[in-house]
Amino acid sequence: MSSSRSLVRSLSLVVVSVGEGTWHVTGGEQEHTVRSIRGRLVCDCRSAWYRRREPCKHVLAVELASTPAEVMAAVRELTERW
Ligand SMILES: [Zn+2]
Repeated sequence: MSSSRSLVRSLSLVVVSVGEGTWHVTGGEQEHTVRSIRGRLVCDCRSAWYRRREPCKHVLAVELASTPAEVMAAVRELTERW
């Protein structure tokens, strides 16, 4: 359940690409940087540090930023019902 809650929270974040494999994620309490390291997205936030096996909301937001618009529309529609 916690990862679906992270997904809902990640929908309100804003992802800005600031270079190759680097993104700034804003819209939460703090701004965080997500980097692509050897094919994995790594975030600098505390929850990423404690929950290594699950992506934090910032990593999810970066993944969502590359999701096709029609898939995002379906995700938003689903999460609005929660
Ligand atoms: Zn994070």
